[in-house]
Amino acid sequence: MTFFPRFDRLASTSVECAAVATSARTDTVRPHPEVSRAPRCAARQASESARRRGPRDCPSSGGGVLPPERQKEERTLAYNKPIPDPDPYTTQPFWDGAKAGKLMLPRCTNCNRAHFYPRMICPHCYSRQIEWFEASGEGWIHTFAVQHRAFGGWADEVPFVTAYIDLKEGDRMFTVLRGVDASKPETIKCGQPVKIEFEEASETVSIPFWRVV
Ligand SMILES: [Zn+2]
Repeated sequence: MTFFPRFDRLASTSVECAAVATSARTDTVRPHPEVSRAPRCAARQASESARRRGPRDCPSSGGGVLPPERQKEERTLAYNKPIPDPDPYTTQPFWDGAKAGKLMLPRCTNCNRAHFYPRMICPHCYSRQIEWFEASGEGWIHTFAVQHRAFGGWADEVPFVTAYIDLKEGDRMFTVLRGVDASKPETIKCGQPVKIEFEEASETVSIPFWRVV
């Protein structure tokens, strides 16, 4: 579904906000007839080739997580959770920005709308005219859920709160929410303002998280 670590493996046994069940994004891009007829460009073919290299289970960033052997190589810090594998053709600017402490978002210059996760084709108007810009790093909680079961490094963190964040610039991002008490979900409110922060996961990757302000 979304975002950097394998949140799709997180099992929620207690959904605190009913809206979360219906908020699951299905951001599939239906190819425009003209797009599907267009010849494949070299970058697209390279991207597809790169995608076949390993598991690509991180659709919200347009990338996946590193295969287990590379997870071990890259894990130079205390961060013990899955580390994303930036895709040079779609998500690299996002991860470069994260490493520099900035939220970089793709925006279509045809319809002027931002989108997330990064894509080569605008999900709103199917244009390929995509530019990157530095976003404010501000947003609001759209909905949230308390996670009581998880796998890998995330198992050490339960219970924790996951949330969808409405970005100030538009579209939505999934996160593990910080600055909240998972044992008191009644204190967390949809609409609460949040700000982005970044945690260094390896020498080359920093991962964004959102914190209630
Ligand atoms: Zn567009």
